[in-house]
Amino acid sequence: MRVAVIGAGIIGCSSALELTRKGFEVTVLDRLGEAGHGTTGASCGIVRRFYSRPEMISVAHEAASIWAAWPEHVGPIGEETAVFHRPGVLFLFPRLDETVERAVAHMTKIGVRFALLSAAQVRERFPYLDTASYFPAKLPDDPAFLAPSSPEIGGAIFEEDSGYVVSPGLATHNVRLAAEREGVRFRLNREVVEIRKAAPGRFDVVTRPGEVLEAEALLNAAGPHSARVNDLAGVRLPLTTRALRREVHAVPNPLWQEPGADPLPVVGDLDGGIYFRPETGGKDLIVGSSDPECDPKEWLDDPDNCEGRVTDPYRERQCLRLMRRFPRVRLGPRRGIASLYDVTVEDWYPIVDRTDLPGYYVAIGTSGSSFKTAPVLGRLVAEIVQACEGGRDTDRDPVRLELPRTGQSVDGGFLSRRRGPAATTGTVIG
Ligand SMILES: Cc1cc2nc3c(=O)[nH]c(=O)nc-3n(C[C@H](O)[C@H](O)[C@H](O)COP(=O)(O)OP(=O)(O)OC[C@H]3O[C@@H](n4cnc5c(N)ncnc54)[C@H](O)[C@@H]3O)c2cc1C
Repeated sequence: MRVAVIGAGIIGCSSALELTRKGFEVTVLDRLGEAGHGTTGASCGIVRRFYSRPEMISVAHEAASIWAAWPEHVGPIGEETAVFHRPGVLFLFPRLDETVERAVAHMTKIGVRFALLSAAQVRERFPYLDTASYFPAKLPDDPAFLAPSSPEIGGAIFEEDSGYVVSPGLATHNVRLAAEREGVRFRLNREVVEIRKAAPGRFDVVTRPGEVLEAEALLNAAGPHSARVNDLAGVRLPLTTRALRREVHAVPNPLWQEPGADPLPVVGDLDGGIYFRPETGGKDLIVGSSDPECDPKEWLDDPDNCEGRVTDPYRERQCLRLMRRFPRVRLGPRRGIASLYDVTVEDWYPIVDRTDLPGYYVAIGTSGSSFKTAPVLGRLVAEIVQACEGGRDTDRDPVRLELPRTGQSVDGGFLSRRRGPAATTGTVIG
């Protein structure tokens, strides 16, 4: 059976690899000239386990063990492979609320290596970090911006062997090569402009510049263009995906080449409203927003109309919060990247599912946090396509997603289009 995958980002490539391993005849289409040149190429590549829902913690834990064995996952490709750096991931919380407690209980149950730290323990281990609480996050023009709301954060989680992948674009290229070795065809510089239902169980996919590809099944993995591709297919989902513009800024890392300094971990400062991690071999830090309520959201109706340069309002918000948490940081010249998330507006969790149009599948709404989980989400796609094309109604009888490296399994229906808004953080933290 022929499957056309629309989108050669990390989600489309991972899905294509898993689909071909199940015996499907797969073609990946992308409007750009190389796999991973969409928003995946702008990803910070952070790989952590902490999420609000236990199923996603299990998926992220499995994915982290795939990243730790990346060359084995992609097999022989004859090129350099992406590297998973593991300086640890530190989450700072204003308080250890129910979400944190639930996550801690699940992480303990499935064997994630982490430590729960008090503010004093954070200071001891990471003496360069200020551990005052600034919660709730504020905009820099708020007179209370620099005033702690409490002398200490409520606590922290330190995930020992989490970190970040360098680089997401290279990792996607690796998956492309692995998929090609296993028989997947890539048709690049092909923008899908029309989806025709040619006959029951058959689609004609029309691309610019004018080719028609026949397929029995289609996967929408178009990232921030996901809603557009659903429109082309005439499919409406019960959940909404929308493009959200983001900026990530770079500043010099004050710990760069400091004798005796431990490598800086990735920090998810959910108290202060940012995340940051080392970049370019540790020379810089990059900082993004963790979506506190006060930050304006730049939703785009047209994902092609995205300002590509970084701007001062984002730089001020993100860098000043960073300087407050890490007082030795100094601003350098304005540098960074702007890109898009494809957000599931209702709950910021991906939608990986069949749809009401037989043969048409989605792996979309990745909500700024699905680079890390893509190798596992790709497997979920393949399980769902195989089950549905084999005649199973996965709405009534969802697939079970096995996670062999970590010995877990989860109900694959947790990312269904019909889940209703899930109870999550409603932010990039997921
Ligand atoms: C700034 C930023 C930082 C991030 N940081 C992290 C992080 O630290 N950790 C993490 O886990 N996740 C992170 N993410 C999220 C992660 O990068 C995304 O969830 C993931 O890359 C999405 O992959 P994708 O394949 O769905 O999308 P994309 O990579 O955007 O791929 C979609 C592809 O579809 C193609 N396409 C679109 N429309 C068409 C069409 N009509 N015809 C043909 N092709 C089409 C596009 O050209 C594109 O190549 C971040 C994202 C951003 C933007």
